[in-house]
Amino acid sequence: MAKVVVNTVSIGANAKRVRELAEVNGVEIAAVTKVVCGDPTIASILLNSGVKEIGESRLENISRITNAGIDSDFLLLRLPERSKFREVLDNVDTVLIGDLDSLSKLYELSSETGQEVNFIYMIDTGDLREGVMYYEAESVLEKAFEIAGENLEGIGTNLGCFGGVIATPKKFEILLSLGEFLRKKTGYSLRRYSAGNTASLPLLEKGIVPKGINHFRLGESILCGTDVTNNREVPGTLQDTFTLYGEVIEIAEKPSVPIGEIGRDAFGRIPHFEDKGKRIKAILDLGEQDVLPSGLTPLVGGCEVLHASSDHLIVDVTESEKSFSVGDSIGFRMSYGALLRVMTSPYIRKVYE
Ligand SMILES: *Cc1c(COP(=O)(O)O)cnc(C)c1O
Repeated sequence: MAKVVVNTVSIGANAKRVRELAEVNGVEIAAVTKVVCGDPTIASILLNSGVKEIGESRLENISRITNAGIDSDFLLLRLPERSKFREVLDNVDTVLIGDLDSLSKLYELSSETGQEVNFIYMIDTGDLREGVMYYEAESVLEKAFEIAGENLEGIGTNLGCFGGVIATPKKFEILLSLGEFLRKKTGYSLRRYSAGNTASLPLLEKGIVPKGINHFRLGESILCGTDVTNNREVPGTLQDTFTLYGEVIEIAEKPSVPIGEIGRDAFGRIPHFEDKGKRIKAILDLGEQDVLPSGLTPLVGGCEVLHASSDHLIVDVTESEKSFSVGDSIGFRMSYGALLRVMTSPYIRKVYE
């Protein structure tokens, strides 16, 4: 049966490595568990390696962690839905916020219920996902402080997600100068400057994070050891954190080009085929429902992932270094996107080693 093997030792080592790298730069980190759906075993590994705060985009995942009896500070990464404000107050210590109306309603509710929550107001520094545009942020921050007072704990920004914009010291200085503006205007000093995700890691490595930036939110670099925005492996981290195994359910020699008129595949895509003659192809018990086929790298040399429909993954094993039979399994490394789907799929058994 298809399974993912979680290498708890490598994940722990990555968390420690990244945390220490941040520490020497005066930066604390929230370890982000959204790609593993808030897997409680993984969350506890992160906390055991010295991380103090878990960042999560979904309240369901935070509940999953706390229901497993794990105690941590929680940072909610995705701007909260209005319909879930009560749940936010029940489960979250700090919340990223992107508009004044939400801030004021959530603050009001927290005053009513006596459940304190801190806010990090997001500033869009150009990647064009969440937050107020940086050139409109001054007056907004003044109002945010009027509303939330000292519960406006800080400001943050996110890069490399929608626009693929690369982090630079200049982007982070925008946060610092907005904080300085607020201090001059109100006398209030923000406590947290939350600058980035894995895409910003090169700044920590080069030691060029502007002084005053004191918080990073890191997922991919810890859990995958990669940095997709900068298209690299993160130096000093391990990439063998997760291995996916699919079981061979058929193996046969078949032509490389389908026989008949070609329409669209199961997902409406028009497939293209190169005639390589007859090939030995294995079908595995994995599909689009479980994996992102383009994000799979076979661990056995010479294997090539060809295609997947909902429940079937087809691998060309003609040039494989190893020969396979029905019942054998084939292992894969995964991209961040592939891991996301694997951990979300209820059909894939999770095994911890
Ligand atoms: C997902 C996310 C992160 C973590 O990003 P990685 O690239 O996995 O390090 C940080 N901040 C926010 C707001 C996020 O949504």
